[in-house]
Amino acid sequence: MINRERLYAYFMEICAIDSEPKSERLLADRLKEDLTALGFMVNEDDTGEKIGGNAGNLIARLDGTAPDQPLLFSCHMDRVAPGVGVKPRVEGDFIVSDGTTVLGADDAAGLAAIIEGMKVLREKNLSHPPLEIVFTVAEELALLGSSHLDSSQITSRCGFILDAGGPVGEIVIQAPEQAKINAVFHGRSAHAGFAPEEGISAIQMAALAITRMKLLRIDPETTANIGSIQATGPTNIICDRCQLQAEARSLDSAKLRAQVEGMVKALESAAAEMGGTVEIEVQSCYPSYRLDQGAEPARRAAEAARQVNLPVRFKATGGGSDANHFNNRGIPTVVLSCGYEKVHTTGERIALDQLASLAEWVVAIISGE
Ligand code: ZN
Ligand code: CA
Repeated sequence: MINRERLYAYFMEICAIDSEPKSERLLADRLKEDLTALGFMVNEDDTGEKIGGNAGNLIARLDGTAPDQPLLFSCHMDRVAPGVGVKPRVEGDFIVSDGTTVLGADDAAGLAAIIEGMKVLREKNLSHPPLEIVFTVAEELALLGSSHLDSSQITSRCGFILDAGGPVGEIVIQAPEQAKINAVFHGRSAHAGFAPEEGISAIQMAALAITRMKLLRIDPETTANIGSIQATGPTNIICDRCQLQAEARSLDSAKLRAQVEGMVKALESAAAEMGGTVEIEVQSCYPSYRLDQGAEPARRAAEAARQVNLPVRFKATGGGSDANHFNNRGIPTVVLSCGYEKVHTTGERIALDQLASLAEWVVAIISGE
């Protein structure tokens, strides 16, 4: 049903268009042009101005050929660094970069599969429900673009985001909520040799706090990690400033709150006991979601996958995606695995067959064919 050569060529073409977070302009313009040529009405929202980027989220619409429930397909246009000057090429059964940049299959695989799906609908005259497509910006910055998306413009109540690792056919129905903690300990500097009793070491406060925290795997649904700890100074001065950055995630909001509270308490008690202070900032990044296998998008994705002979598996993910925001705003949305591998590294790659299967899956979800 799909045109493989056209799909591969298009995929490589859009991988080659520079599109790091907040710099998606060139790719957004290209996709706008292509969607318009496919009959879509395309709007760009004002997220670009709000986040200091050069492009906003694209929201595109196509009337259905039958009066049916609309379906939403979505991907993100940005990619992680190093993502400028990508030179994609076919190597054996895979598409790879030249090893100096990421490939950007995360998320160009999804973008290309959706566009190929729309081309197939058009050239084969397949009947389809009303379609909405959302291409977001700055997903790789903790879902910044979709957090500003004007979801009142979206009418679909059944969404598919093409943006997960794993073999095509896997369907993500659960994802965690995430919080970030930024803490700065303030102690008191003093000469380390002449007057150590007058000093309060910010480094020691941080160390004490960390030993009191539960970290890494907390329970099957909850994780926590210290990402960085920064303090510098000469050895003859007691260091009075130490900054620590951490995160926690859970599929369960109450468990996340409990974990974050525990970490905050450890920070505060360490500072208090050593006579210093700590400034703490807790930022909630995105909400969790949990759909069951019978939810409309999950059911539809699974049925379509079976039709095109893909092995179906439902799964939970440990990371966030735009689906966290879509679900939280009342648009039940699953995330489809795209078959890309080693994302966020210069070894990123995607098998040609996986990319083709992804496009076939899109067509099957829409048309049942
Ligand atoms: Zn992604
Ligand atoms: Ca990513």
